[in-house]
Amino acid sequence: MKRVLLKLSGEALAGEKKTGFDEAVVTEVAKQVKTLVDEGIQIGIVIGGGNFWRGRTSKNIDRTKADQIGMLATVMNCIYVSEIFRSQGMMTSILTPFACGEFTKMFSKDRTNKYFAHNMVVFFAGGTGHPYFSTDTSTVLRAIEIEADTILLAKAVDGVYDCDPKDHPDARKYPEVSIQEVIDRQLKVVDLTASIMCMENKMPMIVFGLNEKDSIVNAAHGIITGTRVTV
Ligand code: UDP
Repeated sequence: MKRVLLKLSGEALAGEKKTGFDEAVVTEVAKQVKTLVDEGIQIGIVIGGGNFWRGRTSKNIDRTKADQIGMLATVMNCIYVSEIFRSQGMMTSILTPFACGEFTKMFSKDRTNKYFAHNMVVFFAGGTGHPYFSTDTSTVLRAIEIEADTILLAKAVDGVYDCDPKDHPDARKYPEVSIQEVIDRQLKVVDLTASIMCMENKMPMIVFGLNEKDSIVNAAHGIITGTRVTV
């Protein structure tokens, strides 16, 4: 693989605490990403916002405004993770679909390609910039736009199951599943909007557990202990 888009959920950054940041978890992610960058793989990153806020969090706030808070949460996450990456010796840049002053730069495909050419890790923060979407959607959108070879989906669960393994101890993990089946059976790999975009634009995904040792490096090397989502 030459270019991949890594999606990290907000909660994954928080570790056991479930909110805010867990520096040890993020540092471990940084070390793995550096291994891949040193091999010449270009890495784009999208991070969720659930460790701070979700648009659905409050019923008393207008949904558009609540989603704006969620999008800003993803910007905070990217600033934090970007700084940890820099502390591990990587060069990084954060792009957003809306202006954030000097905190970030505006997203464009040309700018992304320029940064990749300079061996930078590029963070795509702020989601799509629109309410009623999710970072699942912005992950697939950016992966398609930047022509990534695949999406690496690092999750709390270690793959795609036929039912929720938390509720069903006999749940079966798929080594491989088609995006059509994900949609038909509503397997909740990414949300439905994102799944349809993957199918229409033939963007594959590799789903794995972030907690497993070296799981990001292994997934990028094609060593898949989770699930390959084919298109
Ligand atoms: N969000 C949004 N538009 C986007 C991406 C994210 O409005 O394009 C908001 C939305 O409120 C979401 C929050 O940001 O709940 C955090 O994003 P994430 O995808 O982590 O949310 P989740 O899918 O967990 O609700």
